Amino acid sequence: MKNIRFEFNCTREVPFYAHLCNQYLQNEQYDVTIGKNDNLYYIEAKGEQSQLEALADAIANDFLISTWLVKPQISAIETPCGTKKLLETTELELEYCQHCQPQLGDNQAAHFGEIGFNCPCCMAHTRISADEQAVSLADARALVKKLDKLGSIELPQGNNGFGTIISFQPIENQSLEARQQLVICNPNNLHAHFCVNDSQILALSSIEKPFIKARPISSHTRLKQPIYELCFAKSRLLLVICEIMRQQGIDYVYIANSQNPKIAMVEAKWSLIDTPSSAQKLFINAVRQPLHDDAQAGNYQAHWTEKHIEITADKHSVNQGNAITPINNAANCALHAATINDKKPKNIAALYFSNTSKTQIVTLDGKQQLELFFEFPSLPDNGYDIVHHLELSPQKTLLDKFKTLYPDDYLKLLSLKLTQPTDNIETLWAIAAIFLGATSQTNQTRALSKTELCDFVVARAMCHKGANAPRVDFPLTRGEAFRSLNWCKTLGSIISFRLAEEENVDKLAFGMHDSFADYICNWIEHLDQNINIKSVVIAGNSFANEVLAQRVVLRLGKNFSLNTNPQMDLDGLNIAVGALYLKQRRH
Ligand SMILES: [Zn+2]
Repeated sequence: MKNIRFEFNCTREVPFYAHLCNQYLQNEQYDVTIGKNDNLYYIEAKGEQSQLEALADAIANDFLISTWLVKPQISAIETPCGTKKLLETTELELEYCQHCQPQLGDNQAAHFGEIGFNCPCCMAHTRISADEQAVSLADARALVKKLDKLGSIELPQGNNGFGTIISFQPIENQSLEARQQLVICNPNNLHAHFCVNDSQILALSSIEKPFIKARPISSHTRLKQPIYELCFAKSRLLLVICEIMRQQGIDYVYIANSQNPKIAMVEAKWSLIDTPSSAQKLFINAVRQPLHDDAQAGNYQAHWTEKHIEITADKHSVNQGNAITPINNAANCALHAATINDKKPKNIAALYFSNTSKTQIVTLDGKQQLELFFEFPSLPDNGYDIVHHLELSPQKTLLDKFKTLYPDDYLKLLSLKLTQPTDNIETLWAIAAIFLGATSQTNQTRALSKTELCDFVVARAMCHKGANAPRVDFPLTRGEAFRSLNWCKTLGSIISFRLAEEENVDKLAFGMHDSFADYICNWIEHLDQNINIKSVVIAGNSFANEVLAQRVVLRLGKNFSLNTNPQMDLDGLNIAVGALYLKQRRH
């Protein structure tokens, strides 16, 4: 007889794992004990080799990969520490699992197209909207016919109250800076269209069905945007429709109004960029008691109760009069949120890079004094002003040379319009994209959005092979209270490399990311000499840029411990949670 434990160590809660642990406990076939330590789920069993092997096979089959799973493990143990008590569960969201997917999602299966198929494992039939349950296989086929004819359709409303739109063409009427999203119908042909790595493929098929970002292969004839957001079908209805389309040879279609979570790879693990809105409350344990009972940031409300923080993530939330709201303080909030389980946090720097709130670097010294070290400058929102600034700076000669060599790009620069806010890395990259030739290389007749321009730089950097790259300047300016960036000099540095190595745009785009990461690391080392930095918080939605995240983590991780706060998100409810700790009066 042997005692073994199956462990599923996750960076955040996976409700389906708790549900599965309970199912194994209740299954009379097995004699197991179960438990959960923070976000580590485990099942323990005692038995003969053959029994344990059968159990291992069953568990391997049932525990679908979660985006949040760090590493599953099987180990021999002396004595079990789990119990026969059911784990606390929260409502599940998944609409299909390993038991029902082959039954209803495979065109050869007996139950193909049965949206209301009863699944004893994930119980999804109890959660699917009446509108979707009413769709028969014949209806689903009719929907695909209608898509063929019209080019775009809206599906019946799901349980989130949204009707997903699918289309053969890019979907119009989206917000200006939104990236086009695609749902994959044929996963086997993914590599024929996109550059994706193994961890991205695992994430796509995980329980959470997230959106990941990927660039199309370079010679793609139809996909012309630099970066797309990809997902697999989240709902049973879409699963069936994708299967019908796959049979017709369709590999992917455009999608909108699909509520898949958006994730980014930071420090070799996936982070939520922001937490999707939900009818359910979320709970976060905190060791350190906050200074306020209520706070609000964006769609998120945080409320302190005696033991934990309660979060409402609701698009329609209304600010209660007594809630604290962070204004220009998101970086401080991100720092507080990442340290709520530290009774006396100190010697910390927080990098908060965001395209929605102020991009800042803040520090907490040994005496727990918060200080603003760096703030990203507000850049002009139009090409005319950018040219004007450069002409008044020492970069004028470089700009003149650029104008002579690339007159078309120079004209595009003059007509550039950028959406607000402009105090972020995305805006700087968008301006740099013009100097790298984005508008003349993409053959688009319409003006490119800021997201497309910035994505051009990121996608080109992803193409670069090798570690050598030009070193672009990111010099600091010293203001009265904090430092900022001499962005004219940065642009001048980019222009001069473009003039010298006109063809090697990939290398230069990579160099921009790598140099910026290097400068950030130098700044943190400078802070370390002054106030002794032990750990660095990484937050903000700009780290959804995987090249930036990867270079910053690589440089900083050598000398500091990093904290990406995976139990929360990069730029969402973490700001509301952190606001509970702000030394600030209510407004
Ligand atoms: Zn199921």
